[in-house]
Amino acid sequence: MNSKLLFKSGIVRFSRAGGTLDFPYPESDLLDVLAVVSGLKPVSYINIIEPGRQYLDLCRSAAKFFGLEFSYVQRATPREAGQIYFAREKALIREAARLRALTDPDTPAMHALLGYPACCAGAFVKSKASRRKADIVPLIRKNTPGPGPYSFVVNDLFNPANRDRLPRSPVKVHLLSWHPCRYDCPESLAAGRAFWQFVNSIAPGLAGMLKASLENIVLYLDGDCVVLDGRLKNPGRCSYSSAPFSTLPAGGASLAKLRAGNELVIEEGRLRLLKNGRAAGSIPCDTGLLLDFGADREYLKG
Ligand SMILES: [Zn+2]
Repeated sequence: MNSKLLFKSGIVRFSRAGGTLDFPYPESDLLDVLAVVSGLKPVSYINIIEPGRQYLDLCRSAAKFFGLEFSYVQRATPREAGQIYFAREKALIREAARLRALTDPDTPAMHALLGYPACCAGAFVKSKASRRKADIVPLIRKNTPGPGPYSFVVNDLFNPANRDRLPRSPVKVHLLSWHPCRYDCPESLAAGRAFWQFVNSIAPGLAGMLKASLENIVLYLDGDCVVLDGRLKNPGRCSYSSAPFSTLPAGGASLAKLRAGNELVIEEGRLRLLKNGRAAGSIPCDTGLLLDFGADREYLKG
């Protein structure tokens, strides 16, 4: 694992005859723009509380560079977010804005415009009631028949959209702009692999960074996510040498305990830690999961 690449701010440069475009990543919505360029999404719409002029200028330049239409709809009231739209045609933006203004824009027509597979969008809508009580990740894992490993292209743990428990992680490190219905969903896998290959064809540095950041074992701990450099012994047990990225509070007790151990076991109501086979403390938790996204390590080479 190249931990230097992991979730560090940087600039992705796109060059072609007649111009260059510098786009900051991963704090921006660059991947949403590229998803429209690649054809994965007919329209991309990003909710944004109050974008600065600089960010809007950047989006406008990106649209021009990639030959896309761009539109910013200012928020109607201080309680709402505004929207940034990208599409190949203005008519698609108009249709998306129209659907969004309806009482319930969570419809199959809107999902199709945004390029979401029907199975994943359907599962997401169905999970609405459960998500009020719990995060989406355990629900997706519950819907997935096997313990993995899964492909890095469906790793949605660092997609902050609809992940209320991820406020400490402003990074947007993911390939799919939706949550998969299952970690083995064929539609999401096909879309994610095709999109990664597209990114690799126009920005191999970015594609490599995404792959290195996503194809890891992630410990899910009541909404927080910890990337582990390690190996699963079974679906509930993992040995590890380091935790290179985490959304747990830096300097907090949980992260310190994790870093002091080199093996963890998920048990009812807690995470048990070991250091060289000896007990090294525990972290109380309601939901602990180990998710291995290393299945495509060989299939797709960066
Ligand atoms: Zn699906």
